[in-house]
Amino acid sequence: SRKFFVGGNFKCNGNKSSLQTLIESIIKSTLPASEIVDIVVSPPSIYLEYVNQLVGQRVQVAAQNCYSETKGAYTGEISAEMIVDIGLKWVILGHSERRNLFKESNQLIAKKTQHALSQGLSVIFCIGELLEQRETNKTEQVLDEQLGFLLNGVVSDWSKVVIAYEPVWAIGTGKTASPQQAQDAHAFIRKWLSEKVSKEVANATRILYGGSVTATNSAELSKQLDVDGFLVGGASLVASDFVTIINTAN
Ligand code: 13P
Repeated sequence: SRKFFVGGNFKCNGNKSSLQTLIESIIKSTLPASEIVDIVVSPPSIYLEYVNQLVGQRVQVAAQNCYSETKGAYTGEISAEMIVDIGLKWVILGHSERRNLFKESNQLIAKKTQHALSQGLSVIFCIGELLEQRETNKTEQVLDEQLGFLLNGVVSDWSKVVIAYEPVWAIGTGKTASPQQAQDAHAFIRKWLSEKVSKEVANATRILYGGSVTATNSAELSKQLDVDGFLVGGASLVASDFVTIINTAN
């Protein structure tokens, strides 16, 4: 069975002082054993090393993005090699804010994913439909298209991929997908993996839900058969809420 996974995506929030307070209160809380849940926090890139020095053994650190090339004239970017160099194992790619605010294409996200995996990073690969796409019944078509960019040799090792289903209309809006809506999308993603990759990969791959997850709604969502964890935005900035969400793994 799949190990539960809870990620905290801090987005462009925090400073040294607030991150220290947040991380210290998370790690001194009662957390399930590492066999029960993977816990990964993702601060802004400028604080990756700082936070990595604070988290200790129980919590891991992810970058929120990286570029598709090793090095060079790419002002403002960081590479997968640099993330590995500072001792990290995870990167988030394809987040809806990267796709929509920063106009990252499926092609670019696929290139980034292939390169990050080639460097040994694990990737939290985010997908999800816009409100208008859900309202016109295009959710499955959109997920199929976004996932399709993982085929044709992009993923060398599926054990290093976690998929995050984050419906764009639920991100930062306070409008969570209902447990049934989440389950339906997750079941579709797992069926897709089974048909396009393999039954084994479909069975083993963690599929996270993201989008207005709170300390109040996480328990019900976590009971859904194909919900293997969460990618939490706003609520991950509040230690007690984030810890409550992590403890739904139990
Ligand atoms: P919120 O939890 O703030 O809606 O953000 C979700 C998200 O985008 C996590 O990556």
